[in-house]
Amino acid sequence: EHAIELRHGIVDLILRHTEQLRRINRELAESNLELDTFAYAASHDLKEPLRGIHTSIEFLQEEDGPLLSSSGQGRLATVLRLTRRMDELIETLLQYSRVGRIDLRLEAVDLNELVVQTLELFEPLRKERATARMLGRLPVVECDRVRVGEIFTNLISNALKYNDREEKRVDIGCDASADPPVFFVRDNGIGIAVRQYARIFQIFRRLHPRDAYGGGTGAGLTITKKAIERHGGQIWLESVPGRGSTFFFTLAPPR
Ligand code: ADP
Repeated sequence: EHAIELRHGIVDLILRHTEQLRRINRELAESNLELDTFAYAASHDLKEPLRGIHTSIEFLQEEDGPLLSSSGQGRLATVLRLTRRMDELIETLLQYSRVGRIDLRLEAVDLNELVVQTLELFEPLRKERATARMLGRLPVVECDRVRVGEIFTNLISNALKYNDREEKRVDIGCDASADPPVFFVRDNGIGIAVRQYARIFQIFRRLHPRDAYGGGTGAGLTITKKAIERHGGQIWLESVPGRGSTFFFTLAPPR
């Protein structure tokens, strides 16, 4: 009898905590949405005055540029470069907020076809400075085609970008025996130290100076992670510095 009472007590405790967890989850989702709405409103409102500044500077450069001293011209060019950068950051923030605010459009998507189409867009692959292999066929999955296209684009783009080798290689595949299926994008690039794993998913965080490996705002993986989590999935990685990285992800909640 004592044991039964104890068991009831424990069940009760778990239920209460589950309820609490659910509430915290709900509140987090709500505050995330608030953050997304804020990011959207702020970046949206910043865009217009920035465009005005941009146009004015371009105008100034064209009309009055030749009259300026060379250091004046240099300064004007710097201001123009910085406004372009700001424009890029604002655009990224808009993209980021969009993933959180806008409902997913779920449909059955042939990921094999999607990834083949995605690969056709990459310059280094077209110019044969890099090779991408699909290891087996990818399955058809219920997901948002646009978002998942962006997920693969971001991961493949990073796999080619953070890579110093003569022969860059990207392998894309899926463990379909896992439930839900686990997708992966593997590269033979520069790799990432374990202590940096969490950092790379933070917005505007980069491990390398901006110019070392070409542009980028440091938001790609943040947006990628968010899109994956909206599907109920998870993203994680394994990497050996100097050898390469593999990014894994799912597109459905764990079973
Ligand atoms: P971005 O590429 O715009 O800087 P990301 O959010 O996509 O932003 O990536 C954040 C940082 O994580 C990158 O700046 C880079 O330092 C590191 N990183 C991402 N993908 C890889 C990769 N495949 N191999 C090595 N480093 C990577």
